[in-house]
Amino acid sequence: MPFLKTLTGNKYRNIYSFLLVAGLAIGGFFWPVLGMGILGLMVTALVLNFRKRRSFCAGVCPNGNFLAASLKGISARRRVPRAFVDVRLRSMLCGLMLFCLIGLISRGFPDASVMGRAFWIVYIIALSAGILIGILYKPRAWCVVCPLGTLQDTIGDAASKKTAKLPDQD
Ligand code: SF4
Repeated sequence: MPFLKTLTGNKYRNIYSFLLVAGLAIGGFFWPVLGMGILGLMVTALVLNFRKRRSFCAGVCPNGNFLAASLKGISARRRVPRAFVDVRLRSMLCGLMLFCLIGLISRGFPDASVMGRAFWIVYIIALSAGILIGILYKPRAWCVVCPLGTLQDTIGDAASKKTAKLPDQD
């Protein structure tokens, strides 16, 4: 898919990742409806996952790219604790994310601003956690526990045998 290759090329991906993350995090504070963009990213991840598991994580995800590029110089680069890879912890975080999102959205539906605010809140919590553990461990340590990554793995197990080569979680 040429378009996907262009997006995942080093030349462009950091630029669009920084712009998207800043736009969602800062813009979403002032214009809650922008939070609906996070739903767009989630849908993109799940659609690409049917083609190849974790294609989204392998280069498209703005958060993964942003964490890798922005924390490169300040991360402690320590080994990620074993507890992070525990499937029960990952499943619990994924379930918690879905539970929170469904609850918040169902209260706000069909108001796009209220639903966007719900996505934005979950996004900011995830981004903050990603930055914190990225500094404490490795820049992309968040990707080990990321609920969207777990969701892709869960769906991918049922839908596809192929898995995209992920960038090092360094
Ligand atoms: S694991 Fe999560 S944060 Fe990391 S690349 Fe995948 S979707 Fe993005």
